[in-house]
Amino acid sequence: MISIEILNNRVPEEIIKKIIEAINREYPFLRITGVRSVKLPLESYNASRKQYNATLILSKLEKMKKTDYLLIVTSSDLYAGDMNFIFGEAIFYSCAVLSIARLKTFALIQKEAVHEVGHVLGLQHCKLPCVMTFSNSIYDASKKSGSLCEKCRKKLDRYMGEEYLGK
Ligand SMILES: [Zn+2]
Ligand SMILES: [Zn+2]
Repeated sequence: MISIEILNNRVPEEIIKKIIEAINREYPFLRITGVRSVKLPLESYNASRKQYNATLILSKLEKMKKTDYLLIVTSSDLYAGDMNFIFGEAIFYSCAVLSIARLKTFALIQKEAVHEVGHVLGLQHCKLPCVMTFSNSIYDASKKSGSLCEKCRKKLDRYMGEEYLGK
């Protein structure tokens, strides 16, 4: 079975529970092995922006991976490249980081968690009504669907099928 571990950086347990719920619902083939507390790497903090660099977090914390995949959840605000802020960032087939700093409802947090895990599982952005639609504002995130469209679901079944065959 394919496994994912959650690294928690100062996110309340009730929110972690909601995230686990959403992952279990959307990706029932994924086994969540547990939740570990983690600190964000110091060098990923940008003092003038008062934000953490998501790309640096991923490159540092990817090394902590003991399972197939990793989801890092943080209460700190993230940025990447020239974007003012991001909800999350992912490395395909490896790990993702999700920030709850700007996501004020369980529903939004669940959507963005499902989105980032989708990337980890190899899914790209999708133009259909789908949780894999790109969102860089609360408005976009509120509008989009909380689950995968049929096309992404099929892609995932195919990837996962190959993954199973490879083992
Ligand atoms: Zn995305
Ligand atoms: Zn889709």
